[in-house]
Amino acid sequence: MSNENAKNGPRVAIVGGGLAGLAAAAYMQSRGYGVEIFESRRALGGRAGSFRDMQTGQTIDRCRHVAMGCCSRLIDFCSRVGISDLFDRHKVLHFFAPGKDPNRYDFLATERLPPPYHLCPAMMRLGYLSVVERGKILLTLRRLLKTSARDETIGQWLRRQGQSERAIERFWGVVLESALSEKLYRASLAAARKVFVDGFMRTRDGYELLIPRKPLAELFDRRVGDYLRQKGVTLHRGTRVVQIDGEKNRAVSLNISSGERKHYDAFIVAVPWYAVRKLFSPSLLAALPELEHAEKIPAAPITALHLWYDRSITDLPHAVLVGRLSQWFFNQGNGYSQVVVSASHDLVARNRKHICRQITAELQEVFPAARDTRLIHWRLVTEPRAVFSLQPGVEKLRPQQKTPLHNLALAGDWTDTSWPATMEGAVRSGYAAAEVIVDIMKNSRL
Ligand SMILES: Cc1cc2nc3c(=O)[nH]c(=O)nc-3n(C[C@H](O)[C@H](O)[C@H](O)COP(=O)(O)OP(=O)(O)OC[C@H]3O[C@@H](n4cnc5c(N)ncnc54)[C@H](O)[C@@H]3O)c2cc1C
Repeated sequence: MSNENAKNGPRVAIVGGGLAGLAAAAYMQSRGYGVEIFESRRALGGRAGSFRDMQTGQTIDRCRHVAMGCCSRLIDFCSRVGISDLFDRHKVLHFFAPGKDPNRYDFLATERLPPPYHLCPAMMRLGYLSVVERGKILLTLRRLLKTSARDETIGQWLRRQGQSERAIERFWGVVLESALSEKLYRASLAAARKVFVDGFMRTRDGYELLIPRKPLAELFDRRVGDYLRQKGVTLHRGTRVVQIDGEKNRAVSLNISSGERKHYDAFIVAVPWYAVRKLFSPSLLAALPELEHAEKIPAAPITALHLWYDRSITDLPHAVLVGRLSQWFFNQGNGYSQVVVSASHDLVARNRKHICRQITAELQEVFPAARDTRLIHWRLVTEPRAVFSLQPGVEKLRPQQKTPLHNLALAGDWTDTSWPATMEGAVRSGYAAAEVIVDIMKNSRL
């Protein structure tokens, strides 16, 4: 299907229908380009996707995805494609203290203080840390704000600042492991600084939580898919791009899994870092030296435990569980919940039943109602390459969206956006890649 723009404007192929590809498509379409998306899976959305649980017949996310108030490009994209109504915004984060009798601490900004101080009172109320620890954390946050990036891990840096192991585990680790999906002794100082500056210091609402109300498939596969189709974007679902060919410094065509060869004026390649190099013919790859190290970018796993109880175990929509294996708890209604463990390197080889037993015991500690409910069904999903790992030095391996091939741009959360592996990073990369192509086409006679 093709609209007027598609007939008249230059034709762009987007390889990869994850958030980066979808954002690039929405942008290019709005500028009058004829856009075609090639996605090897049946569904759009990439890693932000869902699947059908056979036992319950329910469509569930492989892993709950949340965004923060500071995710400005993602928020823009959702509004552009008309899905903002599918997110709930939460101003209060519920922290549960470690230990057998966990108190709840509600974390929210005060209206009385401007950023970057608006969360200081909430910090000072985290009573599971000692007053000295809380004070030292605030001082260290101030130092972090003023620190310029060095090639060290946030764990090393925090120890140099005299942060106790308890404060590292119960505060810094709690925030950073889920935001960066990486352990503090692996994640870079620069990445950690970005999380705190953007999320907790720069704006009043940056820390707020945006939680999808429906499965990700409803958002990104159905609703965004419908939006793009109605705007004239052609969606090639279940169509793998086998190779992109070209000559000298430009891409010319792509081969798809059916064996067909298709020609376009421009290309945006929005696949994950581990899949990008094999897409290019040897001569094009030779013109892309920035991809030489793409496959060396390390990955980090995320694990989600899906739990079906015979009724809800709490009225809270979500909770942060401190000092436990469980990190984030999401209540999805009717007894269905998810517990997410980011940077779950240690879980990959562990017995699944033991993991389930430990997490459900933790939920019983935190939510007394869980002790009287029956667990009907559970499912553990680990994505070994959930995200790229922002270790020191990895920033240097992230290529820009603009490439030496003058009609081809790269997108994907792993390209250079300065953001960690997030939906926000993916959308930013998609917009940036689209801008590169629009700019080039404006200045060329294509
Ligand atoms: C378990 C898990 C939990 C996460 N939690 C969060 C969260 O809470 N908040 C958050 O912001 N982010 C989260 N993320 C990260 C987020 O999902 C990603 O950063 C983002 O979705 C990446 O989008 P992308 O478009 O860059 O890449 P992808 O989503 O990987 O999309 C790339 C697409 O390219 C397709 N493709 C690959 N090769 C080809 C080919 N040859 N031909 C055609 N198509 C191809 C793939 O099928 C895929 O659909 C999580 C990720 C995972 C896995």
